[in-house]
Parts: sequence; C-alpha cells; structure tokens
Amino acid sequence: MTETLGTSAQPCGPTDTPDDVDIDALREKYAQERAKRLRPEGSKQYVELTDDFAGYYEVDPYTPVTPRDPITEDIDVAVLGGGFGGLLSAAYLKKAGVDDVRIIELGGDFGGVWYWNRYPGIQCDNESYCYIPMLEELDFMPSKKFADGTEIYEHCRRIGKHFGLYDGAIFSTQVRNLSWDEEINRWRISTNRDDDIRARFVVMASGPFHRPKLPGIPGIKDFKGHSFHSSRWDYDYTGGDSTGNLHKLADKRVAVVGTGATAIQIVPYLAKDCQHLYVFQRTPSTVDERNNAPTDPEWVKSLKPGWQKERQRNFHAWTFEGMALGQPDLVCDFWTELGRNTAARVMALEDPASLTPEQFMAIREEEDYKIMERLRRRIAEIVKDPDTAEALKPYYRFLCKRPLSNDEYLPTFNRPNVTLVDVSESKGVERITEKGLVANGQEYEVDCIIYASGFEITTDISRRYSIEAIEGRDGLSLYDYWRDGYKTLHGMTSRGFPNQFYTGFTQVGISANIASNYELQGEHIAHIIAEALKRGATTVEPTQEAQDQWCQTIRDTAVDTSAFDASCTPGYYNNEGGGGGEGLRSHLGEPYGPGFYAFGDLLKEWRDKGDLDGLVLGT
Ligand code: NDP
Repeated sequence: MTETLGTSAQPCGPTDTPDDVDIDALREKYAQERAKRLRPEGSKQYVELTDDFAGYYEVDPYTPVTPRDPITEDIDVAVLGGGFGGLLSAAYLKKAGVDDVRIIELGGDFGGVWYWNRYPGIQCDNESYCYIPMLEELDFMPSKKFADGTEIYEHCRRIGKHFGLYDGAIFSTQVRNLSWDEEINRWRISTNRDDDIRARFVVMASGPFHRPKLPGIPGIKDFKGHSFHSSRWDYDYTGGDSTGNLHKLADKRVAVVGTGATAIQIVPYLAKDCQHLYVFQRTPSTVDERNNAPTDPEWVKSLKPGWQKERQRNFHAWTFEGMALGQPDLVCDFWTELGRNTAARVMALEDPASLTPEQFMAIREEEDYKIMERLRRRIAEIVKDPDTAEALKPYYRFLCKRPLSNDEYLPTFNRPNVTLVDVSESKGVERITEKGLVANGQEYEVDCIIYASGFEITTDISRRYSIEAIEGRDGLSLYDYWRDGYKTLHGMTSRGFPNQFYTGFTQVGISANIASNYELQGEHIAHIIAEALKRGATTVEPTQEAQDQWCQTIRDTAVDTSAFDASCTPGYYNNEGGGGGEGLRSHLGEPYGPGFYAFGDLLKEWRDKGDLDGLVLGT
C-alpha cells in the first residue's frame, strides 16, 4: 500500500490491486450471489418493533425513566429528535435568534444514534475530522481518526450545552401524534407522557437510523433465552462497557445475527469474553484494514480556519463525485481508494480531457473489481480455515454495501471459540427455537441472541417516523400524502403541512457526510422560521406551484443509478433489492441530481433574494 495516514496533508496515491482479475467471470458470480440472497418480500422480511416487539425499541437500558407531570404549553419550535439532525437544527435556530426551542427526544439525553448505540467496540466508521460537526466552532478535535462512540456522544452533549439546548429539552418522551390545529395555527403534539404541546413550528429530526428492526425469522418469539438489539445493549446481562470486559458472558453461548457495520465492531469483543460465539452471516461485509491513528498534534497546529468544511468537501469529491482531479485526497483511506485509483488511471491517459463519461465509468468499474479482489485476497491471508475464509469473501461491487474497516474482525475467526454460520443458502437464519437458532438443518443452542440486524431505513415513512399519525390541514395524513413519493419544496416543507420542516434524506442534495446535510438543512430551516417570526407570520407553507416545480426538478435532475442498484446484493442501500413490490428505493431519498454543493448554492441564492419565494406566509 502506498497510502499515508489521513492526518497528513500530503497527497496519497493509488493502492496496489491485483491485475489478474477476470471481470466477466466475477460479474456472473456477483449476479449469482445476489440472486441467492434476494427475497421476494423485500424489506417486509423485517419485523416492525411494535406490539409484542415494542420492548426491543422502547426500552432504554441507559437512563431510568423518571416520572413527571404531563406538560401543557405553547412554544415556538419543537424539534423532534435530539441526534445530530435535531441538535444542528436547534443550534442554527438559536444562532438565528429563535430562542423558544424545545427538543423532544425518546432517549434520556442528546446523541441520537450515539446515545443508543453503546455496544462494545463502537467507533465512527468514517473519518471523525469530517464526520463530527462543528469542530472548529466548538474548538474540539477528535482524539483519533476513527473516534470512539463515547467521544462522539460527548460531542453531541457539547453541542447541547454550547447552544443552551438542555434548557427546556424533554427527554425520555415518545411523540405519539402530530396534528395541525387550524384554530390556533399550531401543531398539537401528544406524547406517551400525556403531554399536550402546542408548537408554532415543528422540525422533524428523527434521523435515518433511529428505529431498529428485527429479522422476521420464523419462531423468533419462541426463544426462551436472553435477546436484545445491538442498539439497546444490555450491559446488565453482559457486564462491561463499550470498551469491553463483558465478564458476565464467560459461561454464555452467544449468537450474533448480522454482519453489517455494527456486527463487525461487536464481534471481536464478544469473542474475547464469551464461552462460544456463533456469527450468523447472510452477506459478508467488505472489511479493510483500519489504519486508525491518534490525532497528530503537529497536523492540528498546521490547520487553517475553515479546514473542516474544506476537508468535508474534499471527502465528498473523492467519494460521491467519483474523483477530484487536481486536489490531493486529504482523507486518503478505504472510502476514497476507488476515486484515487480511478484518477491515477485517468491521469495516465494521453488525453484525459477527451474521456467520455462512459469511458470514465468503465475505468471506474475495472478499478472497483480490482479493489474487491484485493479485499478478498486479504481475507484469505488472514483467516486460516479456507472454508471460513471463502464464506467471508464479499462478491459484489464496492459501495453496494457500506464499506468497512476493522483490524480485529477477520482474525477473530481464527479463535477456537468462534463459529461462522453461513446462512446465505436459506436467505437468512431458517428458524428460531426455544433453545437457539437453526441454520443449514442444524440447531445451534445459545443463551443469548444479539440482533445486529439494522434499522428501518428504506421502509415506509410511517414505519420510520415512529409517530402514529401526522395530520396536516383538513386531517390530511402525511403518510398518505407521501405514499407515492415525497412532495416538498427543497425537501424541507410540504404543502398542506404548514410550519412543518423535514431534515434528512427527502428531496435534497446529499453530502457524503451526513452531518453536513443536517447543517445545511438546519441553517435553511432556521432562516425560514426566523423570517416568519420576524414578519409576524403564524403560518408558512409552500405554494402548490413551487412544490410542483421542485418535484419536477428532482425528477429532471435525477441520476439514474438503477442499473447499479439492481446489480447489487440486497441490503438497505437498494431497499433489499427491490422485492415486495417496492422497487429499488434509494436510502438517500430522492436526491437533487446536481449534488450537495450545488444544492447549498441554490439555497443560499434563494435566501439571499430575501423574498421567501415559493412560500406563503399567513397571519
Ligand atoms: P445493517 O442493516 O447494515 O446490517 C444488518 C445485518 O443483519 C446484515 O448483515 C444482514 O444481512 C443481517 N440480517 C438481516 N436479516 C437477517 C436474517 N434473516 N438472517 C441473517 N442475517 C440477517 O445494520 P447495521 O446496524 O450493521 O448498520 C446499519 C448502518 O448503521 C450502517 O450501514 C451505518 O450506516 C450505520 N453504522 C455506522 C457506524 C459508524 O461508525 N458511523 C457504526 C455502525 C453502524 P444482509 O446483508 O444479507 O442483509
């Protein structure tokens, strides 16, 4: 490898990848591996955490829920969700001079995914210097390239304290219903604590990963042992904390279902401490070396104001935009490798400028096959048992699933107390019994099942928001209104739902860095709310015409990724391969084609014009 660490300002070059790759044969193999896993019910194969399963979601193992009286009050802004999305919206509201802001959050503190996900080994999976927002503004520098979850959680709390968001925050509270009250021009928010909060404005900030899901394995309710979802870690049962020492598992046989980003961080820690670990794998992840390193103080000293935004933009260019000729790759890791290797090939051409988009994509595809082959050969070098090594090899294109890095995961399969159970042939674990899990005709008896089975990401919005009903003007349900696709202006407001604002992946430009999306949206939403308040308006919503135009813009600029998505192994990136009649819905919503930075420019121009074009203000 010729890479340098990401904290270096030096440009880094392409990596060494194998040349002896039979792309046609691999293409066929990828298609077979995809077909093997494709399930006709698509995302409906998962169990929604309601009714009998509600406990897997509503339990908070980290903060006792303290009784309190119901709250009845009028406020300016309710922000629903206290993760990065909610925190950044609330922070920008405060910066815009809107003070009466209350965050309502199910967890016992701010943090969102970083509050809930406290499993052993939790770390950021993409570079902390890009991922963690407001580093310069809050004068904080992560301790290493891939920061620990506890550090990121602490930063969420730092944002909360810095902007005074703890004042008035309502924790341990689940919003049940939202309805627009035409009489008072406010949203009425009812909760599981019998609150009746009447908010002039509501910002939806539940985030894409907040609602865990379970695999719909037959018999899942029959298991008599202990079980929990990875985002509700039961340290009372396992002992230890996010740094490990799970001492209570010494005499326990444990099963992990899933081998995604979460599982690969958990598995080495469980293996160290439990009696025996069974890892049930349907699709292997791509796992590269991590190259994590403490933050270099000399590098920190060299940074100039504005460095974080510049770095985020550089990361975005090398990942989402394919490559960034003429710019060094500042992040320089497994996320940007494909862009870097493609760029090196392009620059070696006699006349790079004459390259057509098709030729560019063909080069990129070749480099993709070579990188994936490099990763597969790496597994064969690390994992001693050839059958286990073969089962761990990912056969799909890079970015079909989230790429991962971890130095302990693969060697864990050399331990005598770890068994990889490949459940690809049966498209998942066959059955769960009172005593354990059945796969390939064999029952594996275990004491505990840990479901690292992911989150509701591409399912219907009604499943993802965790709010029973959202009713706008004349009782119109948002879930019905958006059933066939989002209908918004700039992805953030929707006609018939006055004073309601959306964050996340709706109809917006998308950054490779999720927190950048939230910052951009937070700033824009804060601007509209502050302007509405300044102008004495009690309602603001898009005109039909402006909304229709934006939906048309989204359609006109859409980048067609369907061929790539359709070639990918199923997962949440492609809505489980599009089964269940839902099609290949992207986990990124309906993105604005020209991209994140063009979207930012468009919003800024719109704000600078000052006329709130396309919005109707009412009093
Ligand atoms: P994923 O959705 O990525 O993984 C779920 C796993 O469960 C998959 O391996 C899936 O297999 C498996 N699975 C589902 N159903 C079955 C079944 N019936 N039998 C066997 N296996 C099954 O969830 P994660 O929690 O791992 O990650 C979700 C996302 O959260 C990540 O992609 C990432 O964006 C984020 N994350 C971020 C981190 C960070 O550091 N920033 C760390 C951890 C997570 P299959 O692949 O075949 O569907």
